[in-house]
This record gives sequence, C-alpha cells and structure tokens, in this order.
Amino acid sequence: MTLSVDALERALHYPLANRLPPAGGAIEIAPGLKWLRMPMPFALDHINLWLLRDRVEGRDGWAVVDCCIDCPEGRAAWEDIFERELEGLPIVRVFVTHMHPDHVGLAHWLCERWSAPGWDCRLWMSAADYQTARYFSQNVSPETGADIARYFASHGMTNPDDLEQLHQRRFYYHSLVPRVPRAYARLLDGLDVTIGGERWRCIVGHGHAPEHIALYGAARGILISGDMVLPRISPNVSVYDPEPEGDPLALFLASLERYRALPADTLVLPAHGKPFTGLHTRLDQLRDHHHERLADVMVAARQKPVSAWDILPLLFHRKLDLHQSTFAVGEAVAHLNNLWHTGQLTRARGADGIWRYAAAG
Ligand SMILES: [Zn+2]
Repeated sequence: MTLSVDALERALHYPLANRLPPAGGAIEIAPGLKWLRMPMPFALDHINLWLLRDRVEGRDGWAVVDCCIDCPEGRAAWEDIFERELEGLPIVRVFVTHMHPDHVGLAHWLCERWSAPGWDCRLWMSAADYQTARYFSQNVSPETGADIARYFASHGMTNPDDLEQLHQRRFYYHSLVPRVPRAYARLLDGLDVTIGGERWRCIVGHGHAPEHIALYGAARGILISGDMVLPRISPNVSVYDPEPEGDPLALFLASLERYRALPADTLVLPAHGKPFTGLHTRLDQLRDHHHERLADVMVAARQKPVSAWDILPLLFHRKLDLHQSTFAVGEAVAHLNNLWHTGQLTRARGADGIWRYAAAG
C-alpha cells in the first residue's frame, strides 16, 4: 500500500515546526548557520540556501551553500540578504551541492560580486558537476535540440507540436544558468572541508546529479543534504539523451544507503522543504517509494510491452504539461532501464522507432 505524502511526512520531525525564513531574511539554525529561502517561478516554488560563518585565508565572512537560479527576483533576494544578514562581512566562498539550475544558477554572479582585486571568491563544487554545468550552460546548438527531440520521440513522445518544442529545450539550462565561473575548487567524496573552524565531510551521491555533494558536520550533527534527501518530494532520478542506457536509479538507491552511517538524530537541512530529523525513516521511505514504482512497472510490462510514455499515468497521477512531461519521461526511463539492467525486462525498438520494454522470460 502506498501511504500519502502527508502520512509519510508525519513520520518525520520538524524541530522548527512551520517557521519559514521571511522574504529577504534568515532563520539562525545554530550559531553562525543561517537558513535562507528564495522564491522560484516553478511548481517547485522555492529553494533553501545556507549561510555559514567562515574564515578563508585570514578573511572573515560567510560561506554560501547553493545559489538559486539566475533571475531578477533571485538577485534582488540576495541583495536583501547582503544588506540584512551578513553582519557587515563579505561572502568569501560559494559551495554548490550539484549542477542543477536552482543550485548553481547565480554562482557566477555571487563569485564575481564578492571577488575583489587580489581576492577570488571561489566556487567549490565536485568535478563532474562543475564540468557538466559548464557544458550545459554553453551548449545550445541546433544539433543538441535535435538530439533531445529524437530521444524523447524514441521513448514515445510522438506529438509533432511537442517534438517541435523539444528542440527549444536546448536553451532551458542556459536560460537559468547563463554562465559558470571559469575556475573552481574541487570537492571530493570523503574530503573534510573546514568552514568557520569546523569540519564538514563531503558525502558524494549519484543518480540525482552526476556527483552530488552533501556536507556533514559531525560536531553539530547537521547534514546539508542538497537534493539527495528531501523530506516531502522524491528527488528526481532521470535518464536523458547524453546517457541513454544509464541506470541512475541503481546509483541513487546505493547512494542513499551511504547516509545510514550517520546518527539517527542528525538534523537534515534539505534544499527543498523544511529542516527535519528522522533521516533513517526518510531513507526507508525513499527506497520503498522506488521499489513500489518498480513493482508497478513490472505489473504493466507483464500485460504488454510498454514505452516510457505508456507508463507515465502509472508513475504520475496528475496531468502533466510538456515541461513536466520531459522530467516524467526521464524518470520513467530510469525505472525501465533499472529493470532492464537487472534482467527483469528486455527491450526492443519497434519499427516506429520507439523503445518498448517487456517482462523477461
Ligand atoms: Zn537537483
């Protein structure tokens, strides 16, 4: 039985209850650690960002974790924060958990704004996500648009108007992340980064992004989880045209298990939703969610071979616009590919060019 989102959420504990940071302001989670929340013009209508008191090469200031998309509202929200929340200090470095636009979009602007002659406000990020972000922010060629449309067509999106519009999807990333800083400092799994005199351990996660970095501060028992562990929504796990045979769901599920080593009372600071405790419960919920979806897909595939497009109603119980459909197809392929890689499904490409997956044996 699938529990409702509300029922699942009630199994977690929210120490700040329903308090949210005010527009242009912050909530202090712990001494020198502030929670910011910025609005975004999407169905996912906000992102949480974090300010940590820092000292880099003798310079006192703040480290930022994640940035918001590049949009006028995001820049204006930051200007308010600069004025009200920095206590007269500069931002001295910018950490980014992963390459998605809401996390890296304004990194270039923050780094430029807070660099000074002889001082670089540096971006800190994993190598895979830095390079991927740089590539996508610059890659808007018509060939890329054609690749994207061909990919979605091969998974069952056949409406000519939709396919025409999918060519334009090549501008999507660039429109939210126009640039990425030309230099960075590399975060790696297991690396200890000292922020404001405290050690934060980098924990890599795969499947949601190429090399997502969460930060765990053992002294405070706090995990800045980025998008790997969210309290209410299941992080998107998708297959897209650059890696069409990928199995990110296997990577994601394996990555989740790595957080089990953290103490049960860890305070999780997620990029979306509210700070919570109940990490291990949430890991169970996320694992179960995907296992249930996989079981649903198998039931359908035993009836007849299915494309990703065919199983959208099974995975998403609501009407989707074209933009949402692209994410949904990506997620559907992730589930199909996982079952294909584990030998439970086989796949074949029809004369119509569409991949269909059938129960093995
Ligand atoms: Zn993300």
